[in-house]
Amino acid sequence: MNRKYKKLRIEKRNRLLELAYIDPITGLGNYNAYLARTKEKLEMNDKKTMIILDIDKFKTFNKKYGHKKGNALLKRVGEEIKHSIRKTDIVCRLANDVFGIFLVGEVDVENITDRLNSTISRINIGNIWYNLRISMGVYICDKDERDVQSIIDKAIMAHDSIKGKYHVPYGVFTEEFEQKMIRESEIENMMEEAIKNKEFEIYYQPQISPKTEKMEGAEALVRWKKEQNKISPSEFIPIFEKNYFIIKLDEYIYEKVCENIQEMKKEFTEIPKISVNISKESLLERDFLIKYMKFNKKYNVKPNEIQIEITERTTTDDNINMKEKLEKIKEKGFGIAIDDFGTGYSSLNMLEMLPIDTLKIDKTFIDKIDEKNNAINLLEIILLISKKLNLKTVAEGVEKSEQVKYLTEKKCDLLQGYIYSKPLSFPEFKRYIIKNKNIK
Ligand code: C2E
Ligand code: CA
Ligand code: CA
Repeated sequence: MNRKYKKLRIEKRNRLLELAYIDPITGLGNYNAYLARTKEKLEMNDKKTMIILDIDKFKTFNKKYGHKKGNALLKRVGEEIKHSIRKTDIVCRLANDVFGIFLVGEVDVENITDRLNSTISRINIGNIWYNLRISMGVYICDKDERDVQSIIDKAIMAHDSIKGKYHVPYGVFTEEFEQKMIRESEIENMMEEAIKNKEFEIYYQPQISPKTEKMEGAEALVRWKKEQNKISPSEFIPIFEKNYFIIKLDEYIYEKVCENIQEMKKEFTEIPKISVNISKESLLERDFLIKYMKFNKKYNVKPNEIQIEITERTTTDDNINMKEKLEKIKEKGFGIAIDDFGTGYSSLNMLEMLPIDTLKIDKTFIDKIDEKNNAINLLEIILLISKKLNLKTVAEGVEKSEQVKYLTEKKCDLLQGYIYSKPLSFPEFKRYIIKNKNIK
């Protein structure tokens, strides 16, 4: 009786342990099992590699084929992984469509990721072949690392590093990427306060007409001053575009620009047209135009006193929706410029279709002017096409006199760059206007 009772108790305990460690769908270990088994292996002296693998668009697969097929897929993927690794290695299902792999001993990362990718990307379930895409994050452990959670974090970070790169199936953890992520979260932690504390300022960079030698335009560029430090827009703008804080910042900058224009109009008879950079994320907001027009009213600024700068990336994203949006903006009277032209993938067709006034030719083309190579031909073609399509041209990043000479000869409309002026703070910019005799 006693022995029987003991046996029952052991069975029950094993059953509970099983539940705590086994993933019922794949029969593999679950997250808890992964932590425990990996921890054990970490004590060993061999080289160790962690791979976090996930199935892209698994949710869509589930929706399309149902949960039963979805579960069968997870099981098959688990089996394929198991077949691709050694008996002494570990594979567990950590969550939904995420698998944790832990390899002990020498590993050829290229080889194993390749094998996993090719077996899983075309998989057979119940005699039907399915095409899948997987992505993997790889972390090669340090000899004395013992903290499983931090190893998992690093493998996940490696996985994150290939987000958006559709043709790259795996990423390997690097210190640089970790530093980048740390910096990114630092910036994210500071951004809300920065607006409240008025740490964002606007600088204006003059655009000169080589024909009249006068300033005919200026670009508003945001600056972030945090105590004694400056954080560069090329660092924080991409982060804000990713987390959508750019919507708030663009609006803030736009209001300030309107305020500055109102002030300048009181002091000067003539002021240059001001270009404002607007990110795709802001533009795609449903009430974008209503929101922005409120500032025009508030500061008595006419739309034709402002030019909206959008990048080539913005125009290629969602052409139909974007076309309507830009047409409405244009109807109000705003100018529209395509920024960084030549770096993206816009087509000539798009140039004709969208209501654009200005092309801003990217600095990379201007830089090549003195090298006398093909870029000059390309630049020449861009300038010719602009003329044909009645578009104004602005050259960006003009630094040298030979560039001014070339661009003047080729009838580029406006030149912007350090050779004339760096971006100036608002008080400096007003002094620049006075010096250029646009005074009342
Ligand atoms: P962008 O619109 O292409 O702006 C031109 C950049 O070139 C500016 O960098 C400007 O300072 C720099 N630049 C101008 N002339 C020269 C030159 O002769 N030589 C060199 N080497 N550089 C020159 P900045 O101010 O660092 O801005 C970087 C990018 O950040 C901008 O590129 C723009 O895409 C974005 N950005 C700036 N302000 C805003 C904003 O208020 N909203 C949004 N959405 N984006 C902004
Ligand atoms: Ca710009
Ligand atoms: Ca640009």
